[in-house]
Amino acid sequence: MSGRILMLHTGGTIGMERSPQGYRPMTRFSAIVPQHMATLSGLPDYDLIELAPLIDSANLLPSHWARIARTLRTHWNQYDGFVILHGTDTLAWTASALSFMFQSADRPIILTGAQIPLLEPRSDALANLGTALILASSPANRGVTIFFGGVLLQGNRSTKSSSTDFQAFSSPNAAPLARAGISLPSQLPAPPTGPMPNTHIDTLDDHAVTVLTVYPGLCATQIEALTQAPALRGLILCSYGTGNLPDADPSLLQALARAVESGIVVVNRTQCAQGSVVHGTYATSSTLERIGIISASDMTLEAAFAKLHILLALHRDPQQVRVQFRIPLCGEMS
Ligand code: ASP
Repeated sequence: MSGRILMLHTGGTIGMERSPQGYRPMTRFSAIVPQHMATLSGLPDYDLIELAPLIDSANLLPSHWARIARTLRTHWNQYDGFVILHGTDTLAWTASALSFMFQSADRPIILTGAQIPLLEPRSDALANLGTALILASSPANRGVTIFFGGVLLQGNRSTKSSSTDFQAFSSPNAAPLARAGISLPSQLPAPPTGPMPNTHIDTLDDHAVTVLTVYPGLCATQIEALTQAPALRGLILCSYGTGNLPDADPSLLQALARAVESGIVVVNRTQCAQGSVVHGTYATSSTLERIGIISASDMTLEAAFAKLHILLALHRDPQQVRVQFRIPLCGEMS
């Protein structure tokens, strides 16, 4: 192995420029990066490729994950590590998806980006990118992680928690893997690997999974409207606290039970940033298991959404998806 890194640029603030409408991806980024990187010594060798078209990651679709994964697979044996430049808005969603698609990765896939574009004053781009490259070249490192604002986080435990801080990401239910201060840790703890080989998924149905936040006043007709979408195969409920749904209105649970019976996999995830769903803690969640709703435990929304997408792409049978969803596949839940 040559210690060579592939940098895959997908878009995002790191490579954006100002326009009358606000920041947008610039086309000259791939030419500009090497000039800036050349000012730093001691970085590993890298090649840079772009995924066309470059996007603001607010426009990311699940099908983009399959494209990113295909690009990584195409170049897998030519490189020792991968750095993905990504918009911060959906970076944690992509990191989660890649963790399930590259469960047994024997080399690092590190996602990074910036809060301020590379060409703007006070940009955090070079600090994030330079350290991500160094971490990606460490032979002991492997698996899908996020390096941003001085911390290395497990990809499928992370979420964007600040739209303004340089430390934009956190992993509320898992300690950071490492902090980068003046020195870098020589031995990095790797995120857990999974039982499945790296999964070849050529396409993902963008409309297979939806998310519904529970709120005071939610009623059965809203659930029915959502679950009648023809392509829908998975629903993530963001419930209160330890997984509570309003149970005073029986028609709401009946609508969910009908969705489960129709073959939709319904997952219950807490809308709290930290903590876990524990069905049966309160009477308001005790019937959920009985009607076939499964717990997301302490997974982030991003990890639960990505896991459901990947499992639905792999299995036609909803029961098989339910069984697999409950199993921790690659450290995504405690
Ligand atoms: N909207 C941008 C994006 O996600 C935000 C960023 O990169 O920080 O592409």
